[in-house]
Amino acid sequence: MSERVILNDCCEDWIVQWGGFYRVGDAFLCPECATEWRTSAPATYRRSSDGHEFERRERVGPQDRFPYLAAADGREPRVERCCTKILLTHGDRMPDGAFVCPVCSTSWTKRSDRLHGLRVPVFEKEGLAEPLTIQPGRPRPFLVGVSEYSPPRD
Ligand SMILES: [Zn+2]
Ligand SMILES: [Zn+2]
Repeated sequence: MSERVILNDCCEDWIVQWGGFYRVGDAFLCPECATEWRTSAPATYRRSSDGHEFERRERVGPQDRFPYLAAADGREPRVERCCTKILLTHGDRMPDGAFVCPVCSTSWTKRSDRLHGLRVPVFEKEGLAEPLTIQPGRPRPFLVGVSEYSPPRD
């Protein structure tokens, strides 16, 4: 398996919006997935289960900012957090064709494919080992490689 560090979207959303209200040293739980966290330094959050640390950062555009959590050790995720958020929120309804992330300028191509008999949106960008799709999951859907997709049970 690859070395990437997975960060749940629910945890990221919680920490980006509310993390700044915890004091350094405070422990807290993500209210959606119950992951345990601790504020280890200003704007730095340590996941208790594996000790991974994430820092709150911002990408600054001409008229807005996108706050996100980045792995404190500098390891890049295979998909930028802005792209993940946009594809999970809007990807299903995007028309097939090109999409450029307004935050990080990554170029994506969307198409629709059949996986396990279901029509699913598929997203590609340069440098990915395989295209991604949206995996329905709890507490939230997430992006997976098409080979890891499993159809929802119901
Ligand atoms: Zn969570
Ligand atoms: Zn992006």
